[in-house]
Amino acid sequence: MSTSETAVASTALEGLPDRIPHWIGGEYADASDGRTFDVADPVSNIPYARAARGNAADIDRAVAAASAAFPAWAAVGNRARATILNRVADAIETRHDRLAAFETFDTGLPVTQARGQARRAAENFRYFADVIVTLGEEAFRQGSEQISYVVRQPVGVAGLITPWNTPFMLESWKLAPAIAAGCTVVLKPAEWTPLSASLWPEIFTEAGVPAGVVNIVHGIGEEAGQALVEHPNAPLISFTGSTGTGSHIIRSSASNLKTTSMELGGKSPVVVFADADLDAALDSVVFGVFSLNGERCTAGSRVLVERPVYEEFSARLAQRAAATVVGPPADPATEVGALVHPEHYARVLDYVETGRMEATLLAGGCAPAHLSEGNYLQPTVFADVPRDARIFQEEIFGPVVAVAPFDTEEEAVELANATRYGLAAYVWTSNLTRGHRIAHAVQSGMVWINSHNIRDLRTPFGGVKASGIGREGGARSIDFYTDFKIVHLALGPVHTPAFGKGGQK
Ligand code: NAD
Repeated sequence: MSTSETAVASTALEGLPDRIPHWIGGEYADASDGRTFDVADPVSNIPYARAARGNAADIDRAVAAASAAFPAWAAVGNRARATILNRVADAIETRHDRLAAFETFDTGLPVTQARGQARRAAENFRYFADVIVTLGEEAFRQGSEQISYVVRQPVGVAGLITPWNTPFMLESWKLAPAIAAGCTVVLKPAEWTPLSASLWPEIFTEAGVPAGVVNIVHGIGEEAGQALVEHPNAPLISFTGSTGTGSHIIRSSASNLKTTSMELGGKSPVVVFADADLDAALDSVVFGVFSLNGERCTAGSRVLVERPVYEEFSARLAQRAAATVVGPPADPATEVGALVHPEHYARVLDYVETGRMEATLLAGGCAPAHLSEGNYLQPTVFADVPRDARIFQEEIFGPVVAVAPFDTEEEAVELANATRYGLAAYVWTSNLTRGHRIAHAVQSGMVWINSHNIRDLRTPFGGVKASGIGREGGARSIDFYTDFKIVHLALGPVHTPAFGKGGQK
C-alpha cells in the first residue's frame, strides 16, 4: 500500500470501538447479565473488541421496545417514512469511508469491494423509499354490486437475522423494506462481524428514525438468535444464512406459527458452451467465484464446460486463479482478502484437502507464501470433479471452484441440477435460443445469461430447493412485512337469502 493509501485507511479506522453494546429503545445497553464475547479481525485473529452477548432477557427488552414503537411508526404516512429512509441513505453515504474501512477490517473483504457494499446499502434505503411511495393497493369490482379492496398493514415486530458475509449490506437489505413497510425491528447481526452494525445507531438517530423502531441485539446464534426466533411477540423472521440454520429456525418458529423468509446457501452452476465468448465467460467465472473472497451466496462455484473447450478453459481459469492478488484486505490492490474467521478458514481448508482426494488440483490449495499469518487462501481450482464429490455437492463458501466437463445440453442441465441447492445459475453461449432453454430447465431462483450477478433491485431475489423459501426484492419484500386485509363493500342493496322468514321475501 502507498503511504497516502495507508493514511486514508487508518483515518477511516479511527474510532474503532473496543466495546460493542446492544441498542434498545434508542439507548446503548449491555447484556442484562453483563456477559460479552470477543470479536477478532481475520488478519491478526486477535480480539480487538468485546460485544454484548445477548440473552433471552435482552431480546425480550428489545421486542418490548419495538412493540411500544410500532403503533406510532405504522401510522406515519408513506411519504414521511420515505423521507426518513432517504435521510438514512444520506447518513450512510456520509460515513462511506469509515463504513468500508470497518467492514474490511472486520470481515477481511478487500476494501475496493467493501466500498461497493457501502454504496449498495445506501441504495437499498433509497430504493425502498421509492417503492412505498409508488406502490398501490388493489381493488376488484363486481359489476355494480360490490367492490373489494386490499389494504396492506404492517405485521408488527420483525426479527431480522443476518450472516457475516457483506454484513452491513445484508442488514440494510432487510432493515430498509421492514421499516419502509411500517414494521419495527429487532436485528441480530452475525457474531463474527458485529463491527459495521455498530454504525447503525448513529445513522438512524441522525436520520430521525424514532427510538425503538430499530433495535439491535448482538450475540451468539444459539442464544440471542434462538430467543428472537422463539419470542411470541415477533411474528416475522427474515433470515439469511446457512441452510442448516434456516431449517432449524423454521422448526423453532413453528410453535408460534411465524411467517419466515429464508435466503439460504448455494452451489450455483456456470454452464459454458463452446460457442460462448470465452474471454468474457472467463472474466465472469473468475469474478463470480473469487470476488468477496468467495464468501458469496450466489458464487458460481461449479463450472461446467463443454468438452471441446474444457481443457483450454480449465487451464486458463487456473492461470487466472494463480495470478489473482491475495493480500491485506485494506490494500486497494488486493483482489482476495482474508477469510472471515479461523473456524471458517479451517472448514474451507478441510474442503481443499477433501478436494485433493476427489479431483485434480489445478491451482491454489494453500496460502500464498508471502502471507504467513491471517486466514488467506490462494484461489483454488479443482478440475475433473465427479458429480458425487463433496466439493461438487457442498457449499464451501470460499475461493474454491469445482470444474467438470459435459458433452450434451441434456448432460449440462442434469449436472447443473445435480445438487440440493438452487439459488443462482449462469449460462454462457452465443446461441440465445439455447440460453433461454437452459435458463428455463435449470432449477434455480435466478439465472443470468452471458452475465454474472448483476442485480435489478425490482426483481425477486431468492432460491429454490435447499436455497430458500420466499423471495425478497421490490414489492415482494413489502409483501413479506405486511398483511393483506380485504375490505368488501356493497355498492347497492345486498341480496341475502331470507332464512327464518317462512318463505316471505
Ligand atoms: P449461519 O446460518 O451460521 O448464521 C447466520 C445467522 O444466524 C447468524 O446471525 C447466526 O448468529 C444466526 N444463528 C445461528 N444459529 C441460530 C439459531 N439457532 N437461531 C437463530 N439464529 C441463529 O450462516 P453464516 O455462516 O453466518 O452465513 C453463511 C451462509 O449464509 C452461507 O450458507 C450463505 O450461502 C448464506 N447466505 C445466503 C444468502 C442468500 O441471499 N441466499 C446471502 C448471504 C449468505
